Amino acid sequence: MAYKNLTDLHMHTSSSFDGHYSAAEMCEAAVNAGLSVITFTDHFDVDFFEEHRLSERQVTSYEDVVSAQAAFADKLKVLVGIEVGQGTYEPELTKKSLEKYEYDFIIGSIHNLRKTPDFCELDYTNMTLDEVYGLLDKYFEEMHLLAKWNGFDTLAHLTYPLRYIMGNYGIKVDLKKYDGIVEEIFKTVINNGKALEINTSGLRQKIGVTMPTVDYVRRFRELGGELLTIGSDAHFTEHVGAGINEGFAIAKAAGFEYVTYFEKHKPVMVKITV
Ligand SMILES: [Zn+2]
Ligand SMILES: [Zn+2]
Repeated sequence: MAYKNLTDLHMHTSSSFDGHYSAAEMCEAAVNAGLSVITFTDHFDVDFFEEHRLSERQVTSYEDVVSAQAAFADKLKVLVGIEVGQGTYEPELTKKSLEKYEYDFIIGSIHNLRKTPDFCELDYTNMTLDEVYGLLDKYFEEMHLLAKWNGFDTLAHLTYPLRYIMGNYGIKVDLKKYDGIVEEIFKTVINNGKALEINTSGLRQKIGVTMPTVDYVRRFRELGGELLTIGSDAHFTEHVGAGINEGFAIAKAAGFEYVTYFEKHKPVMVKITV
């Protein structure tokens, strides 16, 4: 089934340390993919502030996106966002940095534990299962702290470490033991009036499922969640809009009638229609 009014609220330009294309090139790809709304969300992993040269990158990202927004105004709704990684590790620096510009949308992410490399860079080959669960225990605790911190509009890619642990390394883990903390995370996000993200990048990677999966999205809905954002996490033009249609189908299957995008941090509801 092909859905209308597709919204892709998570993508990166060359202003991200791992991005490759300008905002205009990504916009062109979005028009070709038939999208209605996109939001740029360049990385801002605040605990790597110096290493990622974030004070410069924040400026180039904002300027690049705002000029593409003007250039594509008649073809596509383009919004200005940022993906704040590990905001809870450096809350003061995060707050100060975000005051610099008026963003439409902030994604809240955890890519790494404190003073530890990104989950994508860890070598799980010689880890015991206890060590793997140890990392996951800490990851879900950090997601809970992030939810309580509340400095974002949507909570990004819940279950992110599984992309590597299960997807790339084929290590089987039982997530049942985290159901309690996930429920606490969802309740916190819902009480704070914030959104949950369905990140569709997993669909084109080894793990083969969205982050989080439909079961979690359904649980979020059952607990009263109303705001859901969908994002491809594209770092290349060919991935702009990738999996967004499937994301809409998952939202619908989980009991949602609407998905959401944010403009100046205000949720705008988009009816899921074919
Ligand atoms: Zn991310
Ligand atoms: Zn991202």
